[in-house]
Amino acid sequence: MAAQKIQNIQTIRGFRDILPQQITTWQKIEQEAIRLFRSFGYEEIRIPVIEKTALFARSIGDTTDIVEKEMYSFEDRNSDKLTLRPEATASICRSYIQHKMYAADPVKKWFTIGPMFRRERPQKGRYRQFYQIDAEAFGIASPYMDAEMIFLLHTLFERLGLADLQVHINSLGCAQCRPVFQKTLMDFISDNRTEFCETCARRMKKNPLRILDCKVESCRNALEGAPATVDCLCEECRQHFDQVQTALAKQKVSCHVDNTLVRGLDYYTRTAWEIQTTSLGAQSAVAGGGRYDGLVEELGGPPTPAIGFAIGFDRLVEIMENMQGEPIPETKDLFIASLGEAAAEKAYHLASELNLWGIKTETDFRGKSMKSLMKRANKINARYVLMIGENELQSGTAILRDMNTKEQVSVEMNQNLAQEICRQINPDPASEYHLRR
Ligand code: AMP
Repeated sequence: MAAQKIQNIQTIRGFRDILPQQITTWQKIEQEAIRLFRSFGYEEIRIPVIEKTALFARSIGDTTDIVEKEMYSFEDRNSDKLTLRPEATASICRSYIQHKMYAADPVKKWFTIGPMFRRERPQKGRYRQFYQIDAEAFGIASPYMDAEMIFLLHTLFERLGLADLQVHINSLGCAQCRPVFQKTLMDFISDNRTEFCETCARRMKKNPLRILDCKVESCRNALEGAPATVDCLCEECRQHFDQVQTALAKQKVSCHVDNTLVRGLDYYTRTAWEIQTTSLGAQSAVAGGGRYDGLVEELGGPPTPAIGFAIGFDRLVEIMENMQGEPIPETKDLFIASLGEAAAEKAYHLASELNLWGIKTETDFRGKSMKSLMKRANKINARYVLMIGENELQSGTAILRDMNTKEQVSVEMNQNLAQEICRQINPDPASEYHLRR
């Protein structure tokens, strides 16, 4: 019987590999973000990727797109209803409450970086597994906290060299003034209900605020002249919003007040913002955040003001890649080209020793000819090649070749060989070699 051809298994729709040649930009962003988070007093937290479905339903909101349509939910073998996290805020709040982190000191500033899962329609820049860099701050109600977060985010993007950034900001009010706004909005739209899409008709009952950011054209038209949340803010919310903007203006972060910005999730109160860019074609948000003063209490904790943001890591990488052009190829400090068993053994031990010193060294144990070894040295962008053949083993001296200048020197193969190579190839000043000396 003819053997059946096995079909190659591929990634699922909306999921992707991030390959080694793409990773430099991811790491650069991560390092810059972590450095900045640390200086602003944020600590890292790592949370599970799976949580009870109820956590997201209760926090993000039953009527949001995420909960209604996009969550990867399943029943575990014991019938527990579980969900792959679609965002990090809910889990971080759960953790804050579960570990009573508020007990000794309610002020906590945390960040986390990792994958999120939403079953959205995959398209360019939109994935079903995507990554977010997320920061949350608990226990501080002051508008300076809001300003500091937006400033931090803006600074990170500046440090990464992003141009064309617009900070869109809005205030969604609080439990006191939001109902006033909702009533004003409902009065405005009650006359022309038929002009709204089906989704908005549902939102009118459950979450009228979200009508404001509907992208359907007839809804956009029907909303012309609609009241804005900022028109209905109570005195405290008004002052809070003004102070955030004044602080940011002093820090030279210009903000555009965007009345349609309500964010997709139910838990936001007061300040909400997005950082938008046109560098990926149509205007899109590369990060978004907001204050959520009621969420910790809603999830069973004590009343705790809180605020946070999430950066779309995939989008940020794409923007950076567009700016950088071709990725800079990875280089190696040294390639050891050895011929024969005895030389291979020597090469193995020498490469290990140099790698421990942070000298990027490679060798090849496949028994290739000197010609193909030199080809490989070129292919991996080795700055130097150390050649060890039978003759070199007998004479006790190997040849070190500078691949740029083509100059060659002889080096003694004694116990100081690794040291001598380091001296000759003058490694990166930040390498272990220099640190240990
Ligand atoms: P959100 O949690 O919806 O406020 O999203 C915060 C940021 O995450 C957005 O501004 C996007 O940059 C990014 N993001 C959200 N959903 C996706 C997705 N499906 N694929 C890629 N990035 C996403």
